[in-house]
Amino acid sequence: MAALLVLLVLVKSCQGIVYNYSNECKIYKLGYPIDEARILAATLTDEQADSLIAHQEHDTIAIPLLGERYFIIDNFHRYIAYHKNDTTDAPLDVIVAMVNMGRDRDWESSAVPCDTSMGQLMLVNGRHYLDEHYKPDSLVTFNKNYCYEGQKAQRAVVDAFMTMQKACKEQTDAQLMVNSAYRSYKDQIGTYKRSPKGYAARAGSSEHQTGFAIDVTSRQHPMRWPFDTSEEGIWMREHCHEYGFILRYTQKQSQIFGFAYEPWHLRYVGLETAKRIHDEDITFDEYYAYYIEPHTKSKGTK
Ligand SMILES: [Zn+2]
Repeated sequence: MAALLVLLVLVKSCQGIVYNYSNECKIYKLGYPIDEARILAATLTDEQADSLIAHQEHDTIAIPLLGERYFIIDNFHRYIAYHKNDTTDAPLDVIVAMVNMGRDRDWESSAVPCDTSMGQLMLVNGRHYLDEHYKPDSLVTFNKNYCYEGQKAQRAVVDAFMTMQKACKEQTDAQLMVNSAYRSYKDQIGTYKRSPKGYAARAGSSEHQTGFAIDVTSRQHPMRWPFDTSEEGIWMREHCHEYGFILRYTQKQSQIFGFAYEPWHLRYVGLETAKRIHDEDITFDEYYAYYIEPHTKSKGTK
């Protein structure tokens, strides 16, 4: 009987020692309430928990972060680091969006080649770049009645634009026109030099090089800014997703994320993606980070 009691005491104290080595206990000792420590220990990978413990990270946003719509576990530490350095008091959803888009990094020094195998879903921005040799396989010229100066784009883009402009004409009586579509790396060097600061991407960082981007105005409002407030400009913003396009840089997003508003710049991503981006009101960068990148990483293709 006495031996059994000694054994029980030994097992209990042994369990205590083991518990001290658990992530739950170590996270609890950082200052988190026990129920939060339990949630964090169950959610984080061992590597992430080790890092949290090593950096003595105790942050009030740790638990609320886990409930964010676009939370990506691999970005956990970057969200916390962003929050610590943030002087703007950004809400959690903005912190998550900024980090997911890679805006917490210096884009030039952390730049990565664009994964062109993604086709119409390839991401090109200041961080994901195309090299000077990239050119779409097959470019189609727009009918000259619908573009200025003979523009070219990928076949799917030309077809979708033609369907969209027809619907716009029927509903607003205005004729949409393509101002600019495919631009080579070399063309973009010139565009960048000619454009006001913030309104053109550096060569290699422009979606126009993919052949999936078009700048649109109308015959009635050929200049970009009156087009923005014209009936057809508003129609295009509201309906372009029905044809597989997204407005890449919206006014609302520019106010939140600080990039230039471009009411004329459409990006073709296909019907399904365009609808989701429209319905969820997110940027393509956020869409790519949340819906595409984790899957390409797990397949080892990136
Ligand atoms: Zn553009």
